[in-house]
Amino acid sequence: MTRSTDVEEVHPTIAGLRRVLDRVAAAVEARGGPGEVQLVAVSKTFGPEAIRPALQFGHRVFGENRVQEAKSKWPALREEFGDIALHLLGPLQSNKAKDAVALFDVIESVDREKIATAIARAADTVGRMPRCLVQVNIGREPQKAGAAPEETSALLDRCRALGLPVLGLMAIPPAGEPAGPYFDALMALAAEHGLATSMGMSGDFEEAIRHGARWVRVGSAIFGARPPLAAG
Ligand SMILES: *Cc1c(COP(=O)(O)O)cnc(C)c1O
Repeated sequence: MTRSTDVEEVHPTIAGLRRVLDRVAAAVEARGGPGEVQLVAVSKTFGPEAIRPALQFGHRVFGENRVQEAKSKWPALREEFGDIALHLLGPLQSNKAKDAVALFDVIESVDREKIATAIARAADTVGRMPRCLVQVNIGREPQKAGAAPEETSALLDRCRALGLPVLGLMAIPPAGEPAGPYFDALMALAAEHGLATSMGMSGDFEEAIRHGARWVRVGSAIFGARPPLAAG
């Protein structure tokens, strides 16, 4: 006879999170040398019932793509679980800057002067300044957000002049191509400015870590597949 405790199932979010944390740890070890890697658990499209087990497990760093969606989920979870670091990963519109500044601890998608200015203004009004990453369109894809690599330096200067605390560069390499050369290109650009990088998603976070990522942003490998229309 099997006792019920022996067959008790681990929540799929916790199983996914454990697997990804183990893989992150192994990749950090394999790259050798010092350096912390932070796992940003990307919870976009998932509701509180899927996110809560990760919080109960002790994870505290999450990423969302949309300000409105994050606003509908995270204030209650913060009330329940206390301090949580929230990263904004998706494009930000000026008219959402106040909400974003009030809600997010890190805005990874600063990709033009207009948004940097909107964040600085909102921070003044709200009395809270999130840390920022500048998003770089590392594959120069016309449909993709991000500053062109050659515009990055000027945008970083603007961000600093506006008082934004910039921690690093973020990029999403082109789909369907080996990511390694793009990770290297982002690392080189970041190194020129003494910055860290946010790169690597479910399909390639171990490779991103080997190339030097400081943050990896992992969604589906933790929470499962997203509905295709809401994948944003
Ligand atoms: C959705 C998203 C991720 C996570 O994607 P997965 O492939 O599910 O890990 C990471 N970064 C950004 C910017 C995203 O929009």
